Amino acid sequence: MELDDHAEELASTLGVDKAEVRADLEKLVNYSVPIDEAKDSLRRKYGDGGGGGEPSARSIADVSTTDSAVAVHGVVLTVGKRSIRYQGDDLVIREGEIADESGTISYTAWEEFDLTPGDTVEIVGAGVREWEGSPELNLGSETTVEIADEPLDVPYDIGGDTHLSALAPGDRGVALEVAVAEVERKTIDGRDGETEILSGVFADGTGRLPFTDWDPNDAIEEGTSVGIENAYVREFRGVPSVNVSEFSTVEALDRAVETGDGAPRISVREAVASEGLFDVEVAGNVLEVRDGSGLIQRCPECGRVVQKGQCRSHGDVDGEDDLRVKAIVDDGTDSLTAVLGTDLTAAVYGGGIEAAREAARDAMDQEVVADDIRESIVGREFRVRGTLSVDDYGANLEATEFEACDDDPADRAHELLDSTDAVAADGGTLDGVSHDGTMGDGVNEPRRGDE
Ligand SMILES: [Zn+2]
Repeated sequence: MELDDHAEELASTLGVDKAEVRADLEKLVNYSVPIDEAKDSLRRKYGDGGGGGEPSARSIADVSTTDSAVAVHGVVLTVGKRSIRYQGDDLVIREGEIADESGTISYTAWEEFDLTPGDTVEIVGAGVREWEGSPELNLGSETTVEIADEPLDVPYDIGGDTHLSALAPGDRGVALEVAVAEVERKTIDGRDGETEILSGVFADGTGRLPFTDWDPNDAIEEGTSVGIENAYVREFRGVPSVNVSEFSTVEALDRAVETGDGAPRISVREAVASEGLFDVEVAGNVLEVRDGSGLIQRCPECGRVVQKGQCRSHGDVDGEDDLRVKAIVDDGTDSLTAVLGTDLTAAVYGGGIEAAREAARDAMDQEVVADDIRESIVGREFRVRGTLSVDDYGANLEATEFEACDDDPADRAHELLDSTDAVAADGGTLDGVSHDGTMGDGVNEPRRGDE
């Protein structure tokens, strides 16, 4: 069948103008959409058996990555602006979220459309692709965006106002009020040569997150509070990171944003179930100090731990001495690996690299350092604060603080008992680790095979 015939057939079954259908069909086919899909798409657009020329929009919750082109009717929640390098050119794109009653969907607009947060729009001919695991609308040259006659009421916040703990990689058009907890000016080798950037940590009442400002703003100074609009979120070392760009607006606030005290305390089970968290705290017993702890050697090229003089990437190397602890910490809900760097390890060991070297020389075995550390921390309870990353092998907490708990042991035991009950009650298992409420024998049995 020719395009004309398809158009004829569609026009008559849908009761719409043939020329209009033909033009749409041609567009989709030129867009490499198979004819059957194109027809399905037009049936949806014009509403099967509908009549009238009003396009029937798809519920946002029903948009799927198998759709070729869709029409949606929704409210623009956020509009973020960003410059990307695409096939060698710098391109300014707009991206954000659109919502109807059924849900929200993110979009990327490759051309300039009239998109303003709060506006209800009719979008026709939007492409769909997968982005961050979900469908995303692509608005391009085939797409039309019109302000709808009737505003839609949606149960979502408009304008992107949010807070740090709610951010996830992929969020765009984000507006925040934060305190600048740490900031550092850096020179990096960017795509256009050497560039100055700011990097540091933002804090608000809900938590702390790292940030990068690609176009250094004077308002971002340590100890100040700022309002930021049009930021986006990327994953950086396993945690969400706030990105401030040349398109973001940053304003000093005349009041201080309240920040919480310290890092939020979570259970190890919550930690393991997360996708990585910046600056959190857990408290639990050290069950085991893993191999590769104590006095270790690192590759001078890449910093990886060297085993028997061999780096995985650089082969035979002259390793440099360092101190590290990988400790399995268990709070009764699950276990994770706390990783202590040079300074924290030195504090736990009670001596620095030089002292460790000496001890290893005297014993003619560098394992004595790890043994010493085992003796002082295994079976004891610690509060560990740091940045959490989670992968297939489990959760690692890169420690910034590691301190013996000074809580009353009896309270702690009750708390553990309670959480044990809670786990048992919702059907979880404890992997055979018995928590009888005492902190004594038995807790230093390894729960997890080592590496
Ligand atoms: Zn190396």
